[in-house]
Amino acid sequence: MSRYDIAIIGTGPGGVSAAITAKIRNKSILLIGSRDLSAKMVKAHSISNYPGFPAVPGKDLAAAFSRHLESMEIEITEDRIASIYAMGDYFALQGKDIYEATTVILASGVVNGKPLPGENELLGRGVSYCATCDAPLYRKKSAAVIGYSASEEAEARFLAEVCSEVLYFPMYKGDLALPESVKVIREVPVGIENKDGKRQVVTKENSYPVDGVFVLRESISPGQLVPGLELDGNFIAVKRDMSTNIPGCFACGDVTGQPFQYIKAAGEGNVAALSAVAYLDKK
Ligand SMILES: Cc1cc2nc3c(=O)[nH]c(=O)nc-3n(C[C@H](O)[C@H](O)[C@H](O)COP(=O)(O)OP(=O)(O)OC[C@H]3O[C@@H](n4cnc5c(N)ncnc54)[C@H](O)[C@@H]3O)c2cc1C
Repeated sequence: MSRYDIAIIGTGPGGVSAAITAKIRNKSILLIGSRDLSAKMVKAHSISNYPGFPAVPGKDLAAAFSRHLESMEIEITEDRIASIYAMGDYFALQGKDIYEATTVILASGVVNGKPLPGENELLGRGVSYCATCDAPLYRKKSAAVIGYSASEEAEARFLAEVCSEVLYFPMYKGDLALPESVKVIREVPVGIENKDGKRQVVTKENSYPVDGVFVLRESISPGQLVPGLELDGNFIAVKRDMSTNIPGCFACGDVTGQPFQYIKAAGEGNVAALSAVAYLDKK
């Protein structure tokens, strides 16, 4: 397995900026996220405070970012990282595939919503954040998906191929693209319980027993993503050079706290990349 110099998690302005600077500094990089970059960019109606782009629709700014990446031959690996482990002198990243990198830059944005009651306690014991990683555990068994965005429907379709039954709780509005075998439940989960040998998705109205529950959000809380990472409230505690308490692990953008702004994320991405380069050069 090839080991990258720098793995960058997230393709918003923080991750894109970090990737550009790291590439200029001739480091081997793995940029992981979505080819659509960031829903928070694409959905912005008009952005007025990004220098050089007055009153630009978010999708146009995102397109400019994509052109910049293409012009530098920076590829995006479409994956969602479920866990990152510090292995001493490198990091192991687990998504659909397993990757290795000497340094990591976390640019994964803010986590929408608090964990559901029971979610943290049952994580790894019937609650999962990664369908691709954990679907085999529920082969021919029942699973529930609590999906926070339309992109999670692909995960539900995949689970429907593996599991005997899939319940889908959409936490967003709009039409769904799911096969008939997936049972859509339009009730809001208020917790997850462990009862009678099953996980129960509890809504105000009912309780739904299943073998596994997949809670699929665009971002995973940073403490869950990287065990041992020091937090400051809900955000990653960073120093001015964007380093965290874990040597070789850096963070940038919304994940480090307010203000939530494109240019702040991009600026921090630049600093994080230069700090990762300095760390690698000292090794
Ligand atoms: C509607 C709207 C309008 C806004 N307007 C403005 C504005 O006018 N001006 C301004 O400055 N700011 C604005 N903002 C704020 C701005 O969107 C954010 O501050 C900015 O996008 C943060 O960038 P980021 O790179 O930190 O994270 P994000 O843009 O959130 O990108 C993070 C990316 O990482 C991906 N990701 C997360 N976890 C993982 C994982 N485990 N594995 C792989 N990928 C992962 C996510 O899917 C996402 O694509 C607006 C926000 C919204 C929602």
